[in-house]
Amino acid sequence: MKSLWDEKEAGRFTDDLDLRVYSSQLLGRDTSLVLHGGGNTSVKITENNILGEAETILYVKGSGWDLETIERPGYAPVRMDHLLKLAELEQLSDLQMVNELRTHMTLASAPTPSVEAILHAVLPYKYVDHTHADAVVTVTNTPNGLLHIKDIYGDRVVIIPYCMPGFDLARLCAKEFAAQRHAGTEGMVLMNHGIFSFGETAKESYERMIKLVDMAEQYLDKNKAWTLLHSGSELEGEKKIYKELAVLRAEVSTAAGKAVLLKTNSALKYIDFVQRDDIADIALQGPATPDHVIRTKRIPMLGRDVDGFVAGYKRYFNKYAPNARQEVTMLDPAPRVILDHEFGLVSVGVTAKDTRVIEDIYDHTIDIILRAARLESYRALPGQDIFDVEYWELEQAKLRKSGSVPMFSGEVALVTGAASGIGKACVASFLARGAAVIGLDIDSAVTSTFQSPAYLGLVCDVSITQHIIQALEQGVRRFGGLDMLVLNAGIFPAGVPIRELKMETWREVMQINLDACLLFMREAYPLLKLAPNGGRVVLMGSKNVPAPGPGAAAYSVSKAGLTQLMRVAALEWGPDNIRVNCLHPDAVFDTGIWTDDIIKSRAESYGMSVEDYKRKNLLKTDITSHDVAELAAEMCGPLFAKTTAAQLPVDGGNDRVI
Ligand code: ZN
Repeated sequence: MKSLWDEKEAGRFTDDLDLRVYSSQLLGRDTSLVLHGGGNTSVKITENNILGEAETILYVKGSGWDLETIERPGYAPVRMDHLLKLAELEQLSDLQMVNELRTHMTLASAPTPSVEAILHAVLPYKYVDHTHADAVVTVTNTPNGLLHIKDIYGDRVVIIPYCMPGFDLARLCAKEFAAQRHAGTEGMVLMNHGIFSFGETAKESYERMIKLVDMAEQYLDKNKAWTLLHSGSELEGEKKIYKELAVLRAEVSTAAGKAVLLKTNSALKYIDFVQRDDIADIALQGPATPDHVIRTKRIPMLGRDVDGFVAGYKRYFNKYAPNARQEVTMLDPAPRVILDHEFGLVSVGVTAKDTRVIEDIYDHTIDIILRAARLESYRALPGQDIFDVEYWELEQAKLRKSGSVPMFSGEVALVTGAASGIGKACVASFLARGAAVIGLDIDSAVTSTFQSPAYLGLVCDVSITQHIIQALEQGVRRFGGLDMLVLNAGIFPAGVPIRELKMETWREVMQINLDACLLFMREAYPLLKLAPNGGRVVLMGSKNVPAPGPGAAAYSVSKAGLTQLMRVAALEWGPDNIRVNCLHPDAVFDTGIWTDDIIKSRAESYGMSVEDYKRKNLLKTDITSHDVAELAAEMCGPLFAKTTAAQLPVDGGNDRVI
């Protein structure tokens, strides 16, 4: 554990809050200190209010902010005198506490202060830092955790037995702090939860945190519990697991009552962990720090018995709910972490970001468990303590607030021809509706067209079956399954009359525009059949199907064939709850095929201006890639829930079609 404090960088900040932001970001940069919203920091600043009266304000991390990326607006300013009065109360429910915090801020637009705000207020130091450092929770999650902590720190730190975060913890800390504090006190260890440091300057508080955590790491090292070697067998070569993963995802979605994503990571570290003889013993203890339970649930699912896990979760709920602080409603009983001897670590979430967060948390949890096992043995908090955090009032309140869920939440779409034009626009339209999207293209630009955890761009030649299978394997490993398929990749060769049409051209057009779609539909069918909300396919047809043009025989025939394929698929797959529809776009000029020069020469050959040529439809309107993409996305949504085998024009109205 090394200090990242840089005098030169820090020298740029003179303001107390800027320094608070700076050292908080330093903490946030180290994932072994804080992970995804974990930890919090504060600074106490005396300032004049609008009446000119001096007031001391606690600037404490607001909820929804990460230390790694926090900025000044991430700190909620709360009046210190009120916080100190609250700390004197005998009782305060969490909902009352949040109300008091929010109504005693000096900035109405500030985020809700951390639930640990009162705790920060009662610690009599200008700067206070709090993390859930891996090394500290490793040491405290052992049967003799208290002895180890005393061994490491002597009386440098105040030690607080485990208590649920919130008002009670703030009160307990105030009491224990008053009793145990002395001139040499540098920090405070919260058993099974984390660690606090404090100081008169941002640097002092930050460097104490680093030093204290480093002492725990050194202690683990001294006891041969720090260095972890991951040995064991590599995964067997090229075995494809996407079909089995999609089955698992369907079962987990059923248990969750909604579609979810599964992210699979078969790194050796996870395979090794799962294959340990004592896995059931060490992995089913509970989380490393209680607030992980919100993300990971108390324990992972070992293997693939979803029904067994659900039954176990219901037993856990029924056992602890009667002792809950208030009446509680059961959360969905689906697992969030799955450990499987073949898949490795599988994370379950409604968004791709969730699955990454869960994977990160569990990755650290594995290290914590293994180190605790080497030091002594891993022992998490009793079930009731974990249950109380999982079901605490504030989380239950969030649950009751019915936020609007994006249309394709937890669902996966695959788009071909995704590097440009209509395909790229389709990716954007599906992402905007909450889907995770696999974008395929023969152009390698597809790998970087979108920067989002919900996007996976893969290079793929759709005319090669092995490429398609490989893309499905990679896509399903990342997101868990496939719900929607948009087959858009196609080619439009230069116009040539039938008498001059080369078989080579004909075959190439058929291969890309028609054969590749058949291959894709055939290979994707087993996945679409498992889609929790039913599978959906959108094929990109063309105005040329109902109204062909001279010189476009190959193209028009390929799209007509595709349309017929769509109709047969709709017949065959209806009983599997898979809808298949197609769009017939026309004159979409913002795609790669249409350069300004080509448009100009076409317009001239019609004797029209470029503007008139682009809008030579009944509505005299431009048709854009975005227009087509939006309709493709909506065809997969509830608006078209009862529609299959439809052919929908997106052409501004064409008298030949009508
Ligand atoms: Zn905490």
